[in-house]
Amino acid sequence: MGAQTAAAVPTPASVLGWEPGADRKLPTWKQVTDYFAAVDKASARVTVRTLGKTTLGRPFIVAFISDSATLANLPRYQRIQHQLWDPRQRANATRDSLIAQGKNVILITSSIHSTEVGGFLTPLVVADRLARADTPEARSILANTIIMLVPSQNPDGVDIVGDWYRQTLDTPAEGTNPPALYHFYTGHDNNRDWYAFTQKETRYTVDSLYTPWVPQIVNDVHQQGANAGRIFIPPYMDPVEPNIDPVLTASTNALGMSMAWRIIADGKTGVATNASYDQWSPARQYSLNHRGARILTETASARLATAVNLPFELLGTGRGYDAKVASWNFPAVWPGGRWGIGDIVSYQVSATWALLVEAARDRAAWLTSYAALGERALDPAHPWTTSTTPAAYVIPKAQKDPAALARLVWSLQHGQVQLFESIPAGHYIVPMVQPFGSYAKALLERQVYPNLREYPGGPPKAPYDVTAHTLPLLFGVDVRAEQSLSLQTGALVPPVAEPAYQVPGLSGAPRKRIAIYQNNQSSMDEGWTRWVFDAHQIRFTSVRDADMRGGNLRARFDAIILPDQSALQLRRGLGAPYPDSLRGGLGEAGAAALKAFVEAGGTLLAFNEASNYAIETLALPVRNVLNGVRSTEFYAPGSLFGVTVTSGHPLAATYTAPVPAIWFEDSPTFEVTDPAKATAVLTYQSTGNPLLSGWLQGAEKLLGKAAMVDVQMGQGHVVLYGFRPQYRAQSNATWPLIWSALLR
Ligand SMILES: [Zn+2]
Repeated sequence: MGAQTAAAVPTPASVLGWEPGADRKLPTWKQVTDYFAAVDKASARVTVRTLGKTTLGRPFIVAFISDSATLANLPRYQRIQHQLWDPRQRANATRDSLIAQGKNVILITSSIHSTEVGGFLTPLVVADRLARADTPEARSILANTIIMLVPSQNPDGVDIVGDWYRQTLDTPAEGTNPPALYHFYTGHDNNRDWYAFTQKETRYTVDSLYTPWVPQIVNDVHQQGANAGRIFIPPYMDPVEPNIDPVLTASTNALGMSMAWRIIADGKTGVATNASYDQWSPARQYSLNHRGARILTETASARLATAVNLPFELLGTGRGYDAKVASWNFPAVWPGGRWGIGDIVSYQVSATWALLVEAARDRAAWLTSYAALGERALDPAHPWTTSTTPAAYVIPKAQKDPAALARLVWSLQHGQVQLFESIPAGHYIVPMVQPFGSYAKALLERQVYPNLREYPGGPPKAPYDVTAHTLPLLFGVDVRAEQSLSLQTGALVPPVAEPAYQVPGLSGAPRKRIAIYQNNQSSMDEGWTRWVFDAHQIRFTSVRDADMRGGNLRARFDAIILPDQSALQLRRGLGAPYPDSLRGGLGEAGAAALKAFVEAGGTLLAFNEASNYAIETLALPVRNVLNGVRSTEFYAPGSLFGVTVTSGHPLAATYTAPVPAIWFEDSPTFEVTDPAKATAVLTYQSTGNPLLSGWLQGAEKLLGKAAMVDVQMGQGHVVLYGFRPQYRAQSNATWPLIWSALLR
């Protein structure tokens, strides 16, 4: 860090060779990190740290930005944060002086989704303004806040998307998404990992930034579709996850509305609030369960860095507004026209700057509210505690699946939840009165998603993501809520080790030759499947379309997995404008090869929607009873359902979940049409309602039908999963249903 002279601070353009926002220009990750290294060296207001290596080996960095005196004393400010969020760490009389001394800590995460490419550049422009500017606004931001700027939450994707973009410039495929997941394992699902912590990138941000700092505000920079509003800023739409502290919902709303006011006053149009995005799943909003207001911004996209032309008449409706009509939550209509990377960066920078100005100006109010959140979490008699809030969750240590138990304890502890030994021994106790008790409750209880409709009597109003996140059901661990605790609370449980996953017969040196199908449409479920196999050290081969179409599969493999993908995507793959070498899916040759593979004794596993492909292509004696059923008749957008195990079925022999539950999401449900050739492994109950957590409309469609079917075909088998058996690597209760099919 050198002395601060604006002239010596390098501009982004001096490192990139072009201005951020220039048409058809995207940076490499090396250019981004080079810029941050240069600004770190030249400015005492910026300190860059490397938190580790990404999944594919790139440096994962954060830039701390504040005034130089604050940056020189970061441990002191971290201590103040801790004393504010946990009142047990301070003497009562120090509250006001801590508020007077503390800073408003803001985490900015950019471009977790790598096709949202404005987020590659916005962090450079924001850092440049703060490192260089000498305006009253910039001085106020530097004096009152500590900014932790993560220039990309997915550095690998900056190059996966950027390389594809540069390679396809001036071809028909310019501006298309790359034909691969932009995060090696998770693709777009990389922001659905904020309570399971499966990926390295999630862990860097949680372990090095969220946990030590517990920031007051998080700004998550995203992009949305091109055709409605120019930017979304909170408030979110309903529903609100009921365990989020109301102070955070209120402060998120207030900050979002102030930002919208400010950027509209700056001349920006097309600003939507209270639209499109809800506040439900903790999978994508860590901060709202950890004391931080969450500002998601979603700026309209172009075609990567290639501009689009959007005539006014073609603008459509977002959820909650019409982009052609001024309304209370969309007050300034955008007139339409050209929209490119420069516009995206300009909107993102304006919104981020507005957030920083507001956060700096209201520093004391933010810290006062933050201290109140900490006090409320430890107050058992607080009026927001309802009569249904249990005293604690109790987890017996004797469980059928010790790895699942270890995963549950590890996951909770990793999200700052404290567990205690019981007296007498034999249980873990998770008291609700503790700093992050409401977060634990969100993950341990069953979700009751409200029955929302687009309009009274209309179709279901789709949630932004899934509706359930009950870890005891997903992991397969017996957990009970106690209204008044029957055991005494003993010592705090020290951090447990993450379990080492093992499957006898598959981990290490597998007895079976396994293939996982991968096509150019890039299925996230395929990536998660690879993650689960890698976590278990199970060897597999990724097979592509050309390989499958080439046939002779039985000579090479014992089992082939078709991850969750629609029948159409599997059959057709990519089409125009992608180059010929990437087009086509399994096609007729691939279908014939799969049929020959099974008939010659292979096992085909079809996950979720891929079951439809298997049923159609292999003419299986099974019918999907939900085929063609409308959402007004049946709806379940990511829920957990109870199932009954067919006693004695070989595929269910190692399935030990205390409450058998499957992850249902756009899933098929089966009826066997020839019982001589196909048997149900899992079945829905014949009366009542199988919903355990989330949302289900039209339960009667499922009653008595099969959730998993084993079909005999020639010498081999096809196993149909009417659910996602490794949903986002979280449904480990149902992993054994994969292993049993592979090992048979
Ligand atoms: Zn996004």
